[in-house]
Amino acid sequence: MEIGDLKKTIDLKKAAQEMYELMYKLYPICRSITGDGFRETLRIIQDYIPLTMHEIPTGTRVFDWTVPEEWNIKDAYVKNSKGERVIDFKESNLHVVGYSVPVHTRMPLSELKKHLHTLPGHPDWIPYRTSYYKENWGFCLSHNKFLELQEDTYEVYIDSTLKEGYLTYGEYFIKGRVSEEVLLSCHACHPSLCNDNVSGIVLTSLLGRYLSSLSLRYSYRILFIPGTVGSITWLSLNEAGVSKIKHGLVVTCVGDPGISTYKRSRIGKAEIDVAVEHVLKHSGDSYKVVDFSPYGYDERQYCSPGFNLPVGCLQRTPHGEYPEYHTSADNCDFVKPEYLADSFFKYLSVLNILENNKTYLNTNPKCEPQLGKRGLYTSTGGQSHAVVDQMALLWALNFSDGQHTLLDIAEKSGVRFDEIYEASCALLRTGLLEEQSL
Ligand code: ZN
Repeated sequence: MEIGDLKKTIDLKKAAQEMYELMYKLYPICRSITGDGFRETLRIIQDYIPLTMHEIPTGTRVFDWTVPEEWNIKDAYVKNSKGERVIDFKESNLHVVGYSVPVHTRMPLSELKKHLHTLPGHPDWIPYRTSYYKENWGFCLSHNKFLELQEDTYEVYIDSTLKEGYLTYGEYFIKGRVSEEVLLSCHACHPSLCNDNVSGIVLTSLLGRYLSSLSLRYSYRILFIPGTVGSITWLSLNEAGVSKIKHGLVVTCVGDPGISTYKRSRIGKAEIDVAVEHVLKHSGDSYKVVDFSPYGYDERQYCSPGFNLPVGCLQRTPHGEYPEYHTSADNCDFVKPEYLADSFFKYLSVLNILENNKTYLNTNPKCEPQLGKRGLYTSTGGQSHAVVDQMALLWALNFSDGQHTLLDIAEKSGVRFDEIYEASCALLRTGLLEEQSL
């Protein structure tokens, strides 16, 4: 099966439900940039796609970075002198600063406060904090709970380990007809944060499973990695094959109610950039396109000047631009199945363009060929749909000169890619176009 008429072949409702179910499975897990939470996440994704789990030892040099020690946590709490857990990791994994070193001690409130993080502007929410590269420990809690803390001697306990181990990442490769690759990359290193991390993981998983059922032109490389250090590690270990990546997208923040936002690759006018913008422009929905900037998710590494890969980031509301970002309010109520489904459809529409964006040659370039005698011209014109089809035919014929891809022609003409594609199929059948190899 080709990626063809998406609306006919995709059951979006079912996909939305499946993504939502997977989201509920993954949301409670305490993930970090290393450790068992990351592995458990990958094992659950393996029910959907047969990804390979890679384990990179602590201390491995990856460009200017080093694979960190592995962090795991079983329990953590702050108890008052009555023995009550006033902060409890078991209630929310956001309560502990990620990568907190083990600690078991007693201290007065004044001392404890130095290790507490709150959000006074959103007093009911728990913030998300980490300390990956500086040995530290801390707790996060709602500001309201913080205000309730009395003068007391508190028992502080973090049952964590930080020691030599591995950085884990998941990789799924789907072989297409050509060796050139499309990269899909998502970070999977946040604990219970739904839009920022889980939404991207579930969309990528379903996308991977769907792609694996198709006959594909491109090969697809799908990565589930810890943010920043994961993409740096992958790029460092796979530098030799990176030139095969012809298009790529970083998948994140795809389930919130905001409009779609596309962050261009550093190249800015790569085929992926044109394809995503084409889909958004013709979606009928509001959207935003922003230029590359060296801040954000793993596109920062893929688009670092030494690689400069054509990798953009298709998201909804960008990180930091929604108040729920990096707080306990980024939960399963914030992400909705209809937004996941909408993002999923837009991703598929982009991949559909990449799969079908070829360059053809008009075999009858001297003056227009006579379309009527080949059954391509509606003799009773006037209907708007027929007109669009004929416009698509004329554009596809005129610009299939070996220099323009179908997407170039779609952009030039203002006609949707699907229609230009359908016109090219009709012209191919009648021999008026012939394919140029990739
Ligand atoms: Zn984040």
